[in-house]
This record gives sequence, C-alpha cells and structure tokens, in this order.
Amino acid sequence: MPTSSRGPAAPTGAPPAAPPRAGVVVAVDGPSGSGKSSVSRAAARALGVAFLDTGAMYRAVTWSALRAGVDLHDPVAVAAHVRTVALSVGTDPQAPAVAVVGPDGRETNVTTEVRGAEVTAAVSAVAAVPAVRSDLVLRQRALIEAACAAPAPGARPGVVAEGRDITTVVAPQADVRVLLTADESVRLARRAQQDLGAADEAALEAVRRSVSERDRVDARTTAFTTAADGVVTLDSTHLDFDGTVAALLELVRSAVGERA
Ligand code: C5P
Repeated sequence: MPTSSRGPAAPTGAPPAAPPRAGVVVAVDGPSGSGKSSVSRAAARALGVAFLDTGAMYRAVTWSALRAGVDLHDPVAVAAHVRTVALSVGTDPQAPAVAVVGPDGRETNVTTEVRGAEVTAAVSAVAAVPAVRSDLVLRQRALIEAACAAPAPGARPGVVAEGRDITTVVAPQADVRVLLTADESVRLARRAQQDLGAADEAALEAVRRSVSERDRVDARTTAFTTAADGVVTLDSTHLDFDGTVAALLELVRSAVGERA
C-alpha cells in the first residue's frame, strides 16, 4: 500500500532511527547500471518483503521542482520546494510506484515519467542539496519502519531498500548491507540494452555520457563506489541477472538464517 510522506523540518544529520523490531532489512547501494534496482526488486519478491527504490523519490522531487519552475541551481529554492512536496511511495515489489500528491490530495503517478531524460539530467543537482537529503532520508527511514511494523497484506515484515546511501546513512543498522558493483563497461552495456534495446558502439556512447557523468556528480554527494565498514561488495561483472539475485539472497540467508 502506498505511504504518503511530507517532508518534516528535520535538521541535517539527524541520528539514525532505532533498529526495526521485526523484519529483515536489506540495504543495497551501487552506481548507475549496477542493476541494483532490478536485482533488489527481484530479491524483495523472492523474500516476500517490500521494495524501496529511493532513487525514485529523488526523481519525483526533481520532477515536481521542474514542473514548479524552481531554479535547480538555487539550493535555497530547492530546499524550500522539497518541504512542500508530498509523495506517495508504493513499496509492493510487484508494482513499485511513486506519485506526487497535490495540495488537493490528488495523486499524479510519475513512476514512468521520472525515468525520462529531463529528470535524469536534473536529479543529481537536486540530490546534492543537503536539505533535500535530510528530508528524504527521514521519509525513507519511516517507509522502512512501516514495511517492518505494518507489512502489506500477504507480505512478510521487511524491506529491500536500494539507492546510494542506504548502507551508510539511511539504514546503517540494516541486517544485510551490500554494495552492488560491476565493471564500468558491463554497466554501460546493461544500461544501453535496458534503455535503448542495443549495446552497439552508438548505444554505448549515448549512455556513457549520462551514466558516467551522473555517477561523477553523485560521487561528490554520496559514497557508493567503495564499501563502507561492514558492507559486503557483490561484484556482478561475471554474473547474469539470476545469478546476481541468487548471490544477494545467499548473503541475506547467511546473515539472518531462518528469518529470511
Ligand atoms: O537510482 P536512480 O538512478 O533512480 O537514482 C537517481 C538519482 O537519485 C541518483 O543519480 C542520485 O543523484 C539520487 N540518489 C541519491 N541517493 C539515493 C538514491 C538516489 O542521491 N539514495
């Protein structure tokens, strides 16, 4: 069930929430094209728990800011805008969704639109604003706690949450913390195949600019290229999709055993 969230006026660097009482929390970070979104979603499905795509939340705030004509190079204006944005985040791994909730309560489902070129090109600037991060981190912690304390009907308590700072900032006390990586050439080929349906030279060149540039800018904001202490690196360079999901599930089972 989607959960509505409006940004609390939280100070940057608020302490991490207490560990959830029930449920397995799996935190997955990684660069663009590492497959973290599709792998995390498949793992959530296999575990019967929720799936939280935190990138979709940054994208939805960016979509809203673009629509409102906010100057994305003005951090004060972006920070003021994020506080006004209510999001509805659906964490069902069969149909993850994000919607922006208007002042009249009407929801605009932006799940597909936020993956477009306009938002993709703008999202890193929005995600670099500290007030945006502290606001969305609190909302993400609340969604993780809700997935543990009040799972959707038929779901088990728990969540696989993925992004750039889940293992380090959002859920450093997760049961399992994984950095999903792959060689850059493999990531580019996967992204080209996914977005353009081909991985020839022209397609690779087209995604290289957006993927590498976005990672370069994002790396100034979040540390997702090397694993923090206690975070396991899962390198999928030589694994196919099913093999990567199986490896992630194995890490979960070895960490939490019967609870998975
Ligand atoms: O994962 P995805 O490509 O959808 O993320 C979109 C953008 O959101 C990233 O490029 C990054 O700027 C931002 N992001 C972030 N922290 C997260 C997840 C995403 O800064 N936890």
